[in-house]
Amino acid sequence: MEALLEKIIKDCAPYKTLGRPASYIPELANGDINDLGIYVTCSDGQSFMAGDALKPFTIQSIVKPILLLLCLMDNGPDLVRDKIGVEATGKPFDAINVTEGSLSSSHLNPMVNMGAILMCTMIKGRDSGERFSRLLELTRLLADNPSVELDQKVYLSEKQTGSKNRALAYLLKTYGMIDGDVEEILDCYFKACSIKVTCKDLANIAFTFANRGRHPLSDKRLFPAEYAHFVNAVLVTCGMYDGSGDFAVKVGVPAKSGVGGGIMAVSPTKMGIGIFSPGLDSKGNSIAGIKVLEQLSKEMYLSIF
Ligand code: GLU
Repeated sequence: MEALLEKIIKDCAPYKTLGRPASYIPELANGDINDLGIYVTCSDGQSFMAGDALKPFTIQSIVKPILLLLCLMDNGPDLVRDKIGVEATGKPFDAINVTEGSLSSSHLNPMVNMGAILMCTMIKGRDSGERFSRLLELTRLLADNPSVELDQKVYLSEKQTGSKNRALAYLLKTYGMIDGDVEEILDCYFKACSIKVTCKDLANIAFTFANRGRHPLSDKRLFPAEYAHFVNAVLVTCGMYDGSGDFAVKVGVPAKSGVGGGIMAVSPTKMGIGIFSPGLDSKGNSIAGIKVLEQLSKEMYLSIF
């Protein structure tokens, strides 16, 4: 397996420089497009890596499945479906998706920014700080890494420049979908996106979804299997932004990408996969990262379809 991963990383290296790091968050523009790494956590307890698998980067939108899980744990699936919906929007992650002067849950989704900002108000906590702390704790638990922390520089960079997210949050407020202070709510969202992880962390987190809620090493139950089904289904339909259909055809597993260059992929019952390569396509997906997954999926027959 190690040799296969090394080969795939080598084969896909030419794709690293085809994309560009996200620049709308100034701190992310410093990403090195020469980075490419993969970590795989398998169901037999073994793990494998190649390339820059232990280099830290910010989780960005890959926090959305974790936020969705916490939202499910705090509110149950009915309320989550009612308030946020599960249908793919088919639009970019930061789209202002309003029709005929109204906004409803059918314009949202847990994997787009509006849905994620709303989820930041649904998770339990006395204030935004406590909500974020609970999310960070859950991330550490799933990653099996108590030292997962916030990247302060990226957080401040997002907070200073996040006008589009402010626009989305004020729209939610205008239509009565969120209450309270918008800046405080966004503080939780910006911090959530700025959690620092490695491919190893993402692979372990993915494995809990692949293993229907059980810890990768101890096999202890961390959350109900039903919530893993919920999150995996949402990932298949909209985890790769408005490129989810193409990804389903080419790779065929539940996955989530982030504009930091990470991809978390779930191979149900088999493995959790974490990928990192900051060169993005126009939709915000890592170009070399998708190529790596495409090749791994072919070699190991991972497609669920
Ligand atoms: N923090 C980013 C934003 O809200 C996350 C986007 C992403 O990774 O898709 O713009």
